[in-house]
Formats: sequence, structure tokens, C-alpha cells
Amino acid sequence: MAGGEDLRRSAARTGMAKKSTVKTNSNHGAPSDAEWEKMDRATAFKDNVVSNEDNADSETFRKGDTAILLPYPTKPDDPLPLHDFWVAKIRGIRHRVVRGRPDVWVRIQWYYSPNDVKAIIKSFDASKCGKYERIFSDDFVTVSSSCFSDLVTVKEYVDSNLDQQDICANEFYMRYDLEHKARIIHPKHIGTCLCGIPYNPDRDLMHLCPRPSCRRWYHRVCLVNQGCVENNTTKRGREDRLLALSPDSDESFPLAAYKNPVPVPAHSRGKCTVTSKGRGKGKSIVHVTPLETLPEELVEIARLPIIKGAKAGGIVGNVRGVVAARRMVYAALEGRELVPEEWEELVTCMALQEMGGREEDEVPPVDIWKGIFFGCV
Ligand SMILES: [Zn+2]
Ligand SMILES: [Zn+2]
Repeated sequence: MAGGEDLRRSAARTGMAKKSTVKTNSNHGAPSDAEWEKMDRATAFKDNVVSNEDNADSETFRKGDTAILLPYPTKPDDPLPLHDFWVAKIRGIRHRVVRGRPDVWVRIQWYYSPNDVKAIIKSFDASKCGKYERIFSDDFVTVSSSCFSDLVTVKEYVDSNLDQQDICANEFYMRYDLEHKARIIHPKHIGTCLCGIPYNPDRDLMHLCPRPSCRRWYHRVCLVNQGCVENNTTKRGREDRLLALSPDSDESFPLAAYKNPVPVPAHSRGKCTVTSKGRGKGKSIVHVTPLETLPEELVEIARLPIIKGAKAGGIVGNVRGVVAARRMVYAALEGRELVPEEWEELVTCMALQEMGGREEDEVPPVDIWKGIFFGCV
């Protein structure tokens, strides 16, 4: 027998049962509830050795951790993409000695895959989930410590959260909870778009209407098909309409009120290349609109459509960055708050960093989709 890693992987070869048959096969030797009660508690295990210390190396599995388990009947040496592993939260660790050897068992709470949910809720449309998506269940089982492959995190994804943290392309995430015996999903697996079809993060491209009374995501394709496209305005006109679409008020932000040039000291302008006209008097004063006094890149971000989808730079999209940028622009224009020095950090999100050109591979072309508007506007 080779090192610890091999021990663990070969042990995993015994695999574990599919969830539906877990009581009847390969979790052979699993303790009954009564036996579990009598077993000694531990807070961590590593290679079938338990401990109660809080040493957090990457190969130790601890109570409260989320882990991936090799799906039965996959062999440990078969290459398997990460998104095909089973995912579970570790709720309890207990051990006993069987025939002189340590016998470690782990109580887990399953994250179901979309197909697992489909198996018990026929109406659930697994094709409208992402491949790294899991559904947090109230289904607990006891499995051998040998089934565990690695630690992962499952991020919570809330569609309506304007401050949603980024979720990378190879990170697990969850949108729904499952009551497995009652066969109920919370919240309901329905979309907010005109079509009612849920968002598939791997495939769909969605636009958000950020108004508080709306906060709905729409498929770009559906908006275009419904004719929710504005053609009779300039590019800047469209961008300013997006900029005025407030996440905090159902009224559009009154941008027009900030379009008259006002005299400001040259150095306060967002763009540093401005030089004053004429010599002598008024040398350091320029006339610009209040909008032009703000950092140009910040305003450009605030003018972006709020979109999401793997094809638009990320599963959760640019919502956090664009919303933060719009709020900063409004606060500065209204004189409530100066643009913070660290504004770039505050609007940074993965989708904005990765967007360069990636979102253009799908109809309709950029000039049209920037003109997309929502039924409520
Ligand atoms: Zn739709
Ligand atoms: Zn709306």
C-alpha cells in the first residue's frame, strides 16, 4: 500500500451507494442509529484516523466542512470532472474499533445534483440548472470516511441580491433548498422572465431590470423576441437611459438635471487631460457637466447593461459592480457623497474584468442589445 492518498483512494473504491439504495448495498457495515449513538465523537478525520484537534491542513475533513465524494460506482482512478462528484456537508464524525482496526463513519447532509432532484420531483427541470449547481437537501446519511475525496465550498447564489459575491466557473453553488420527503423546493424553480423559464447559468444570457418594484431577470432572447428594443436613439442616449435606471427607486434618476456645464477647477475633473481654454484669467477653471467631473471609467461601468450568464463573463454577472457604480454616480451628482478614493475596488467584479468582447458571440449584436428595455419602463 502506498501513501495516505492511495489508501484513501483505494478505500474509496468500495464506493458508496446511490442515494436511493444507500441502505441496501455498498455502505456495507454502516452503523445503525443505535450503534451510531454509542460511538465516540470526533471533530475531524484524515485517512481513517480521527482527531479532536483543530489542525486545518487541506487533507483533514472537519465537522462543518463541505466535501466531494466519489460517486458510486466510479473507480478512483477514472478521470472524473469535478462537477460530477457528489457534494455533502459533514455534520458528524464518529468512530469505533472493529476487529482491532479504527472504523470511522461520517454523518453527511447531501447537496443534491439537479438530476437527483429530478428523480424525486418529476416537474423539476434539471436542464435549467448549471453543471456546478447543487440543491441543499434535508437528507442525511451515514457514510464511510473512505468515501471522501476533497474539500470544496458551495456558494449561495441569490438571484435578487444586488451585492451577490462572484462565483467562478468551476465553483459549486446553490440557489435552492430541498425538503426531500415532502418533495418541495424553496424558492420555487421558476424564472422571472416573460417566459417563466428559469435561468440556466451555463447557457442563458440575462438582463436585469434593477428597479425595486421589478428586480426581474429577463432572457435577452425573450426581450428581443418581444420587441423590447430601442432603435430610435443614439448610443449615448441608450447608455444614459441605462445609467438612469436606478436600483433604489422606481423613478429614473434625473440625469438631464446634470447636463448643463458648470465651472469647476480643472484638477477636479475625472479625466485629467483637460486644459483650460484661453490664457490668463480663469486659467484653472473649466466648464464641464457634473457627470464629466466624475471618473470616466466609473461612469462607463454605471452605463453598462446589468447582465449575467457564463457567456457574459460570469454566472452571477456584473450586477454588483454596475449597481455599486450607479449608486456612486448618483450620490456624487446629488452632492451626498464624493466618489470614494477606492471606487475601483468597490465596483470590481469578475464579470467586469472578464467581459472584454466575450459577450458578443450571441445574437443580437451589441448595438441592439444595449438598447434593450423592459416592459416596466
Ligand atoms: Zn425568457
Ligand atoms: Zn422592470
